[in-house]
Amino acid sequence: MTIRVYVGIGSNLNDPVAQVKEAIEELEVLPDTIMEACSSLYSCKPMGPQDQPDFVNAVVALDTLLSPADLLQRLQRIEELQGRERDGEKWGPRILDLDLLMYGKKVIDTDELKVPHPGMHERDFVIIPLAEIAGNISIPGHGLLTTLINKVENHSLKKLITG
Ligand code: ATP
Ligand code: CA
Ligand code: CA
Ligand code: CA
Repeated sequence: MTIRVYVGIGSNLNDPVAQVKEAIEELEVLPDTIMEACSSLYSCKPMGPQDQPDFVNAVVALDTLLSPADLLQRLQRIEELQGRERDGEKWGPRILDLDLLMYGKKVIDTDELKVPHPGMHERDFVIIPLAEIAGNISIPGHGLLTTLINKVENHSLKKLITG
């Protein structure tokens, strides 16, 4: 039985559009996984430190047989493959960020993995691309996407490339 998962993609270094497209290609070839949908690419003002370039963001839908832990490991491997370095600055600039947003309706709360992703419901750069590909789903603990769209923070989201 496959599980529908959503992955958030972000980049603001080294040609972010190319980084996001490369990440999408890597996600397409994950084992035991099929990519069912990919949102438009958006540009977006950074969260946290403002002394960094704008981000490019997108969300993809996958149907997978991989476990949450296996999937997280593979997402981190893709981040590393594309050269992500961790300099410790919270919400600092990065070549690639892959967040596991949802894993079916499952709720996970461990140090390594929290699902639904704790920030997703208040981020326009997650909710808007997600709504594009997921319809009006509900996020465990946070209700329906269409309700959340009216409450999210504004990061001056702009559609860059229509998906
Ligand atoms: P945020 O999580 O607020 O978007 P971030 O993406 O900048 O911030 P990272 O530095 O990329 O945070 O990740 C820190 C840790 O978060 C990772 O080592 C990972 O173990 C953990 N983590 C917990 N839940 C998730 C999740 N749903 N998806 C990805 N990483 C997660
Ligand atoms: Ca800084
Ligand atoms: Ca993130
Ligand atoms: Ca992350």
